Amino acid sequence: MAQKRVVYDAIIVGSGAAGGVAAHVLVNKGLNVLLLEIGPKWDRNTQFYTEHSWPYEMPFRGLGKPGQYDGLWKVSAYTEHLYVHPRIDLYATAPGTDFHWTRIHAVGGRTNTWARVSLRMSEWDFKPKSSYKEIGQDGAGEDWPISYQDLAPYYDKAEDLMGVFGTRENLAVTPDGNYHAPTPPPRCGETLLIKGGKKIGIPVIPIRKAILLRNREGRSPCHYCGNCDYGCQTASRFSTLDTIIPKLIGRKNFTLRTGAAVHRVLLDPKTGKARGVEFIDTKNRRTYEAYAKVVALGAGAMESTRILLNSKTRHHENGLANSSGVLGHYLMDNFKAGMIGGWLTDLKGGEVFNDDGAGGGHIYIPRHTNIKGGRKVSALRGWQYQPNSGSAAFPGFARRVDGFGASFKKEVRDLNPTRVSLAGFGECLPYFDNYCEIDPDGLNDRYGIPQLRFNAKWHDNELKMAELMFDTAEELLRAAGAEIIPYSRALPPPPGDATHEVGTARMGDDPKTSVLNKFNQAHEVKNLFVVDGASLVSNPEKNCTLTIAAVAWRASEYLAEELRKKAL
Ligand SMILES: Cc1cc2nc3c(=O)[nH]c(=O)nc-3n(C[C@H](O)[C@H](O)[C@H](O)COP(=O)(O)OP(=O)(O)OC[C@H]3O[C@@H](n4cnc5c(N)ncnc54)[C@H](O)[C@@H]3O)c2cc1C
Ligand code: SF4
Repeated sequence: MAQKRVVYDAIIVGSGAAGGVAAHVLVNKGLNVLLLEIGPKWDRNTQFYTEHSWPYEMPFRGLGKPGQYDGLWKVSAYTEHLYVHPRIDLYATAPGTDFHWTRIHAVGGRTNTWARVSLRMSEWDFKPKSSYKEIGQDGAGEDWPISYQDLAPYYDKAEDLMGVFGTRENLAVTPDGNYHAPTPPPRCGETLLIKGGKKIGIPVIPIRKAILLRNREGRSPCHYCGNCDYGCQTASRFSTLDTIIPKLIGRKNFTLRTGAAVHRVLLDPKTGKARGVEFIDTKNRRTYEAYAKVVALGAGAMESTRILLNSKTRHHENGLANSSGVLGHYLMDNFKAGMIGGWLTDLKGGEVFNDDGAGGGHIYIPRHTNIKGGRKVSALRGWQYQPNSGSAAFPGFARRVDGFGASFKKEVRDLNPTRVSLAGFGECLPYFDNYCEIDPDGLNDRYGIPQLRFNAKWHDNELKMAELMFDTAEELLRAAGAEIIPYSRALPPPPGDATHEVGTARMGDDPKTSVLNKFNQAHEVKNLFVVDGASLVSNPEKNCTLTIAAVAWRASEYLAEELRKKAL
């Protein structure tokens, strides 16, 4: 007997921050949802087994065989079992360029290991082009078709779902949010940085992170191990794997299909609308089709764009929803600079506490340049710092301390509380010539699906800003009383390294210059949505995931309503 063809209300592709939030909204609105995910569904109790591993428990003291991890990013002996290995699952880069693409193929995507810093974008970040007159900005880039006020209610919802901690600071550059608890107190070194910041007029505030500080629905509060990079066995941090998916599994209107590598969106030739997707089963390598009234791509900014580029047809020769020619373009990522460290010598020899903290640092240094009341600098826009300090359970700096025996151990112990560091993230402007495309030389992924080639590099403004980030980092550390550890000013690592890659299918009011409308709906295919960071129009210094979650939430509510009205 022929099997009945299921037509879902919505297919969502990918289960990270974007796809996970979309599933949460659509399933709770009563839609019959199929969530397609390329990776497996992990059990946090077994998968995150390095969360509390000491170096001496790991082969090669956790450093790997000589050279094993050289030239890699994110992938280490502690994380190799979590990330897609870029030397095995290749992608291409254009000559003279480089790109660090960080992928996790599993339910939850990169929310399994993200650092949880959750920041709202400001009004200026949504209107960078037009707000320059008011605040002395520059007019570069493009305005979003939505404002901060449009997204604020969805930031509220996303923060509530994710369990963000933070404090209300009333700073326009970093709008306050909906926090479940105040940030844990600053460590000693952080208190000195706060004082140092005051001396030179740079505000230093409590950080905001999606980490639970109280029990919630079977998830424990953070136990301050500081090892979020390796997963979290107590599910204290937000991930879609532990926060959203468990509440959807078992619901009649929710189907999770893991091991499904989506290749392309299928179109109905008569209506021009999406009718579903084609995917490859990652185990048996067979090709399948799944059908729905609406398709929502949330596979991560680069991957959703790749799916659209791979969905080209006779009528969509440049890729689906791409008659504007901007699909793949305006690729952005924060760039990293000002990563320097110091010793707060006043704290030398002080008592050693376990300062590992809730996923690292407890303070945050918001953008302070080219804003009302801030410093005017020669580069456009600005940057943030994420500081860290305090005694570490495993003081990695010990490798750089001279000596041996008892005096070496004493020196390490004495220095441990004095450790302080800054990590800067700068705003990258949107450039048409930063883009990804299907590899013209025919590289395929392991399933035979055409792979991306990246063409992205930092431009003059980012490089100029990077120097300023180092200068100000030194100024801040000195103001806090730190002795700066000698360092050399390297160029920022290549685009992608901050893992805040966004853009490539941006939203806008004008179909000639954008791929999506202000509700993340493809201008050209009304029942096709891209709900992830591909839709972002600017990439301010703030880490992007909270904004991705809020945008996905807003798009999903609109999608559900349009479907109810039979308008899709
Ligand atoms: C170490 C680290 C630290 C970070 N720290 C922060 C931070 O502090 N703050 C912050 O804001 N952001 C941070 N990020 C970035 C953050 O993780 C991402 O912005 C966020 O996860 C993006 O969500 P997404 O849903 O768009 O993509 P992802 O989380 O990557 O999810 C994409 C999903 O799609 C699936 N998928 C991919 N391709 C296909 C396909 N073809 N078919 C089916 N499924 C597919 C993947 O398996 C995955 O589940 C960090 C990332 C890393 C790696
Ligand atoms: S620091 Fe907290 S949130 Fe991070 S892994 Fe440890 S327990 Fe989990």
